[in-house]
Amino acid sequence: MIAHGLSYVKALSKSRPRASAQAQAGPAKLRYNCTTVMITRRKARKVKIGDVFLGSDFPIAIQSMTQTRTENVAATIAQILEAEKEGCDMMRVAVPHLEAAKALKEIKKKIHIPLIADIHFDYRLALEAIKNGADKIRINPGNIGSKEKVLEIIELAKKYKIAIRIGVNAGSLEQELMEKHGGPTAKALVESALNWIKFFEKHKFTNIVLSVKSSDVLDCVEAYKLLAKKCDYPLHLGITEAGIPPYAAIKSAVGLGALLLEGIGDTVRVSMSAPVAEQVQATKNVLKSLHLYNKEPEIIACPTCGRKQIDVEKLARKLEPELMKIKRPLKVAILGCTVNVVGESMGADYAICGGGKGKCAIFRKGKILKWVTEKNIVGEIIKIIKSTK
Ligand code: SF4
Repeated sequence: MIAHGLSYVKALSKSRPRASAQAQAGPAKLRYNCTTVMITRRKARKVKIGDVFLGSDFPIAIQSMTQTRTENVAATIAQILEAEKEGCDMMRVAVPHLEAAKALKEIKKKIHIPLIADIHFDYRLALEAIKNGADKIRINPGNIGSKEKVLEIIELAKKYKIAIRIGVNAGSLEQELMEKHGGPTAKALVESALNWIKFFEKHKFTNIVLSVKSSDVLDCVEAYKLLAKKCDYPLHLGITEAGIPPYAAIKSAVGLGALLLEGIGDTVRVSMSAPVAEQVQATKNVLKSLHLYNKEPEIIACPTCGRKQIDVEKLARKLEPELMKIKRPLKVAILGCTVNVVGESMGADYAICGGGKGKCAIFRKGKILKWVTEKNIVGEIIKIIKSTK
């Protein structure tokens, strides 16, 4: 087995034609893990949030929300800066009272991404948040109290040229819609959103982002699909209150993935009961898995089986933090043995393959570059990646 692994990889390095050469040479085009499927985004109009644009002409923005008391300015800034470092494009803060609204002004001075104020119940907090520099506000108009109060928010947002997210949520839906639909169903969520769109448009406000969140994946996906057909405003996706990871991350990935695959979604948040950095990473990973985030490398690693010649998991865990420091899109495959090395090494930018006798082969686009001992592999491949473009 070991001898076979080594000799097979060695033979491969001599005889295996490159994928590109094959594609040029023969009538049958071979594709190894190169994606042939493109996601076509749903057409969504442009909406500006600070210096970030939402809409189908722009990358899907990653967003998250702080867990600090917003009026604790230092702690809130620290958490936003941490989220920025993880790749967050915009951040939301809770504004449950006046002190929090006033804190926005100081927070804005120290951060580098747009700041969104999350308001419930009291329209005066929305007004204060706008005056203190919020780049967008998120309200659920259904719990603001009256249309007159919502209108005051609209008029001030118009004056300050900021967007409003109409954030309809299954947990705070209008009572009459709950009764009409027998609960916070997908249709009820969409009807609420459409009613409010009509109201905003009647008052000549179209700087709108929408969300129709539910903690139930099926309701949530159905609601976004229905809403996506009815308007062209950017959609903020999220499975609300998803729970604790890893289940919450999987649940979010299933729901968000179902929508993103259909081109639905312009900004995304994975919301879990977990640290903000972990939520941002999960959001980024959902997008990365669909080729919708391309600012960092991706590791492909086999699950290993009785054929493995190297400790793939240990190696992947050691390599990942080093690899993520390289801020460019790269695919690195780690394979325990030679079984899948042909396809995976051609589809990846780099591949590591266990060859036996404590050795691994490093591949670059399907071609062997060198042999390295298992204990030196991380340092070697990082050195190679850094020296090549
Ligand atoms: Fe098993 Fe080799 Fe496949 Fe990994 S690459 S799962 S070790 S056969």
